[in-house]
Amino acid sequence: MFKAPRGTFDILPQEQPYWKHVEEKAASLCRLYGYQPLSMPIFEDAQLFTRTVGRGTDIVEKEMYIFQDKSGHELALRAEGTAPVCRAYLEHGLFNLTQPVKLYYIGPAFRYERPQAGRYRQHHQFGFEALGEADPVLDAEVIEMACRFFLSLGLSGVSIQLNSIGCKLCRPGYLEVLARHYAERADSLCPDCKARLTRNPLRLLDCKNASCRKMAATAPKSSDYLCPDCQLHFQGVQGFLEAVGISFQLNHRLVRGLDYYTRTVFEVEPQERGGQSTLGGGGRYDDLIETLGGSPTPAVGFAAGLERIILNLKRQNSDIPELPRPVAFVAYLGPEAKVEAMKIASQLRKAEIAAIMASGDKSLKGQMRQADASGSAYALILGQQEVRTRNVVLRDLRSREQETVPLADVATMLKSC
Ligand code: AMP
Repeated sequence: MFKAPRGTFDILPQEQPYWKHVEEKAASLCRLYGYQPLSMPIFEDAQLFTRTVGRGTDIVEKEMYIFQDKSGHELALRAEGTAPVCRAYLEHGLFNLTQPVKLYYIGPAFRYERPQAGRYRQHHQFGFEALGEADPVLDAEVIEMACRFFLSLGLSGVSIQLNSIGCKLCRPGYLEVLARHYAERADSLCPDCKARLTRNPLRLLDCKNASCRKMAATAPKSSDYLCPDCQLHFQGVQGFLEAVGISFQLNHRLVRGLDYYTRTVFEVEPQERGGQSTLGGGGRYDDLIETLGGSPTPAVGFAAGLERIILNLKRQNSDIPELPRPVAFVAYLGPEAKVEAMKIASQLRKAEIAAIMASGDKSLKGQMRQADASGSAYALILGQQEVRTRNVVLRDLRSREQETVPLADVATMLKSC
């Protein structure tokens, strides 16, 4: 028996209302803020990720799904959404449009991780990106948007963690001090952090190991090493957030797991925190587009994981709108009635009335059970007698009341229900 690959899952019909709810809220949020949809391929040139996400990162080092196609091109399943958005921005000359260009996407991402609750090998991300503008007002807008998104979903108690990790001018100085801080205590570092110390010292700040966490608490803060421009930018972001009443916690250990970030980084935590809890994260990536061969182009964005959102909606017992149910279930008794039932079901659908047609040779009782299970509001029942008199029995499946109505009137009657 085949099973869905480890770390992947099917989204069965009963789960779909959650997904639809989140996707609809995402799309209406983006309409509200003027972000336009972008759909991208599921696989990209592998180098798109290795060059931008960074060689020292978990994603690139151990988690990418890389394969060669038949002509030997090295491709990777989409590991995250920001680099593909930037690739599309460059490829289609979107830099020629009025800046910033505001785009959003919803789609799967693939990472070969150890599966656990809230961590999968295929997950889904909703992300939005504002490209071509350095103004801190955009960072604040993106953070406000993220907050509004979770509020609109009915998730209460989310909190924002905020930090600035500086730019290519001031970060090297900070990294030096940070590496020194850790090097002096190298004996107490976990093996992963020992290996990261020279390659990617920033990542040491968010290691979950107890002894590394202790060292992170006393580590130098990136915000104390910002150059004057980055300082001003960071103050701007905080000022705009305060202006719109978004509260946030400054967290000097927050660095994010991807190398392309500059200046602002932020994460959204749910009420109930735990191992794999972060709902989403984002920040500024002013050098990414240049890394891909474009002109220097500042940009900022955010991405959230749909699975974790849905996990939290369930934890909080949130009300989720139901998906539309069928209006009519068409039942029949006998071969003549079956033809008539097929015709009436077809007419109903032509009139945009959702109808389910019975099939097989179930008894009327069996068909009524199926009608109830389908969630239909009405059952239409056709027997020999109804066919002869050009009538149909219309049964209200909630009240169980029924009446005989002319076949010719049934579509109009159901349309007005
Ligand atoms: P990232 O691209 O790593 O910044 O991730 C953005 C968001 O996607 C995270 O905050 C999570 O909500 C979600 N996410 C990332 N990786 C996974 C995963 N393996 N499984 C489920 N959700 C994930």
